[in-house]
Amino acid sequence: MISVEEAKELIHQHSKSLATQTIPLAQSQGYALAQAIYAPMDFPAFRQAAMDGYAIRFQDLSSSSTFTIQGEQSAGSCDQKLVLQKNDCIKIFTGALVPNSCDTIVQIEHVEQQEDKITILQKPFLDMHIRPIASQNKKGELIAQKGDALTPAMISLLTSIGMHEVEVHRKPRIAIVTTGKELVQAPTPLQEGEIYESNAAALHAALSTLHIQSLRHIIVSDDKEKISLCFDELFQSEIDILLITGGVSVGDYDFVVAALKQLGTEQLFHKVKQKPGKPLYFGKKNNTLIFGLPGNPASVLTCFYIYVYVAIKLCMGFRQTELMHIKMPLLQALQKKVGLGQFLKAKIQPHGIEVLPHQESYKMNSFAIANALVYLSENQSDVAQGDLVDTLIF
Ligand code: AMP
Ligand code: MG
Repeated sequence: MISVEEAKELIHQHSKSLATQTIPLAQSQGYALAQAIYAPMDFPAFRQAAMDGYAIRFQDLSSSSTFTIQGEQSAGSCDQKLVLQKNDCIKIFTGALVPNSCDTIVQIEHVEQQEDKITILQKPFLDMHIRPIASQNKKGELIAQKGDALTPAMISLLTSIGMHEVEVHRKPRIAIVTTGKELVQAPTPLQEGEIYESNAAALHAALSTLHIQSLRHIIVSDDKEKISLCFDELFQSEIDILLITGGVSVGDYDFVVAALKQLGTEQLFHKVKQKPGKPLYFGKKNNTLIFGLPGNPASVLTCFYIYVYVAIKLCMGFRQTELMHIKMPLLQALQKKVGLGQFLKAKIQPHGIEVLPHQESYKMNSFAIANALVYLSENQSDVAQGDLVDTLIF
């Protein structure tokens, strides 16, 4: 059995970024940049008014605070011929090109206007309300790094410097196999001993937060032949990641690991010193990464966030591959034995992190309202109220 840290390390080693493709920038939300971006232009490219007001020459204020309006410059106009004489000004609007002869903008609220004259009521300073050329970025400057996430703000930034396409790593093709003779799909009525299959729905939803749709979902019974046949068929198709739930433990009906072995997959680890999800399996067949997630619903989702999520992010070339984590003060004391790492369903509160009740891996009621996992490492023992704990936010 390996540690959580060793398991993560193996996932990092084996999850390679997928082929790159060029896609429209407007459709790139959820991808990561496959290339560093160097600005093709200065931004702003011209001196820009930051306020509605009047553009003046600062030095003229020493003789008089009254100015004569000689013209107007609105956003999108480019009249550089507006040359000011002593105590002239031009009316200017936010975003407009500031004519070279002006060096200061007085905001509209700070002047009193009478016909074609204004009187400045509040003295500005030189360069006030003018956005300098290249004040966001110079031409040629690095503005985004390889692996940065294409968020709405990143898409805005790149579009604003004239980009319309972007190179990204493609998304992984993912198939889900849920195993278990007891599983029934809602709304079919349950017979005694049966339960509703819920892991596939959880995985579909978790994938959709990464803007990924799984290609297939197959349900197989606890039958070694059928399981083997199902995996074999999937390995013939072009799947990058195979997510299997259930049947990875040591029970008489847990055939997943044996079937994978029989099909010649390379086992990278089986069993991690963690709770929930101890029987987690990770392996590889050609270029397909295989996760055998222990069937209990809370194990599935925890292993998704801690391991599968990371593998997907690596395939897509992200720099940030783990859930965001921060240290937070624990709102209650916790008892813990040394030996297993623990991921606890938790909720971020205004003054700290609250570990929720119902931590057992068959229960989803606390997970359903949680927004974080508290991670206590293998060697950690009891934790006192107020201690800082690793908090993973999902
Ligand atoms: P297993 O890992 O197959 O031993 O399953 C562990 C527990 O998770 C058992 O109680 C299963 O009934 C339950 N389980 C397995 N797969 C699913 C599933 N797809 N949806 C809901 N519960 C499941
Ligand atoms: Mg099972």
